[in-house]
Amino acid sequence: MSFSTELSGASTIAIVGAGQAGGEVATLLRQNRFEGAIVLLGEEPHLPYLRPPLSKTYLAGEIGADALIYKAAVAYEKANVDVRLGVRVEEIDRNATRLVFEGGGSLNYDKLVIATGGRARELSVPGADLGNIFSIRKISDVEALRPHLEAGRRLVIVGGGYVGLEVAAVAIKRGLDVTVLEGAPRVLARVTAPELSKFYERVHREAGVDIRTGVSVTGFTAGPDGVSVGAVQSGGESIAADFVVIGIGLVPNTELAERAGLLVDGGIVVDDVCLASDPDIYAIGDCTTHASHGFLRRKIRLESVPNALEQARIVAAAITGRPSPAVAAPWFWSDQYDLKLQMVGLSDGYEQVVIRGSTDSSSFIAFYLKEGLVIAADAVNRLSEFMAAKRLVGERMAVPADQLADEAVPMKALIAAAAG
Ligand SMILES: Cc1cc2nc3c(=O)[nH]c(=O)nc-3n(C[C@H](O)[C@H](O)[C@H](O)COP(=O)(O)OP(=O)(O)OC[C@H]3O[C@@H](n4cnc5c(N)ncnc54)[C@H](O)[C@@H]3O)c2cc1C
Repeated sequence: MSFSTELSGASTIAIVGAGQAGGEVATLLRQNRFEGAIVLLGEEPHLPYLRPPLSKTYLAGEIGADALIYKAAVAYEKANVDVRLGVRVEEIDRNATRLVFEGGGSLNYDKLVIATGGRARELSVPGADLGNIFSIRKISDVEALRPHLEAGRRLVIVGGGYVGLEVAAVAIKRGLDVTVLEGAPRVLARVTAPELSKFYERVHREAGVDIRTGVSVTGFTAGPDGVSVGAVQSGGESIAADFVVIGIGLVPNTELAERAGLLVDGGIVVDDVCLASDPDIYAIGDCTTHASHGFLRRKIRLESVPNALEQARIVAAAITGRPSPAVAAPWFWSDQYDLKLQMVGLSDGYEQVVIRGSTDSSSFIAFYLKEGLVIAADAVNRLSEFMAAKRLVGERMAVPADQLADEAVPMKALIAAAAG
């Protein structure tokens, strides 16, 4: 058993932000036999919970709030983690190695882990502060939104990214009248290839969603029985809505770090072991920018559960003097209707896209190739082949395009040939 030389049983590790990243690192530190105090501070009233279902099964009412909880209270009790909820950290005093809480109170730390995540990006147009305009980041957001999900009501969703499309899928199934407004020429434009965007646009349109791309929303006005969304689409048009959901991405919560003088560039800048620009402060999860991501080897900020958990493992190892776990290719998922989309790697800069299966069906994989290597894959309803795709991407394997496309050649055989 090896401990970081500076830490003893009398040391305190403070974690700011009780999301999945914060909750994970808290218990992992104990698993790694850190013997000092672990204090997890979160401003929300909940134990760390899973956000992905907020726009999926939880929004649909298929699961209750209990099912969102990441680890039961007993897990923190067993690990002797001092969980303090409803506490917002206002300031990091780096000279005194002390946290100052909003409304009074403070805590001295020996090591600090910042895991403050992010908040929903607001649309800065006139009327964006009207009632009946929602976003989804927290349980309380969904609680406010859910009563509006009634058949026949008119919902306009601003943003055709994952969250917007997931909300559209839930709402149309409930019998609402759903319009999605996307500024880019296609949905999911930031994250996937045109083939996938086309596929999802078709699926949503067939389900009855009115998807409009290349539309910039210019403002909202209050109508007698709802909200009017002013949307500019080749000339200008206004759409009537009973309520609106804005899904245009996330703003990382970096202000606390910025005020403390830590290096921030989009997110809190961290190195290979998630150390920020202070030898006693680490940062993990959506609030971070990797100076050079361990797999991608470039500066990037990732927003995903796998990234948050991986960074938690890395920090727990770093603080307790253990070898750093290997960094995997980033991956992500999205559930819409009965389609499970799983993505691995980043496809930007690809030279060729190869489809295994057909985008006319509801089961296929898109592989992205660059210089002959598989750099990313998007799998729709191909759970076992996705595992193989992760390996192809993770090991940057070279596979000829015609073989990737040929469903008669099992993925296992492709891997064996590429590895051999
Ligand atoms: C609707 C939705 C759907 C998603 N779907 C997927 C998906 O399908 N797959 C996937 O991989 N990812 C998905 N994500 C992203 C994923 O949920 C995030 O990547 C993940 O939650 C990041 O965890 P985190 O702990 O870094 O941050 P967060 O979960 O944001 O947690 C940070 C916590 O810190 C608290 N905090 C902030 N500042 C302070 C402060 N000063 N003092 C005290 N507490 C503070 C915040 O209130 C928050 O509770 C989704 C996210 C949303 C919102």
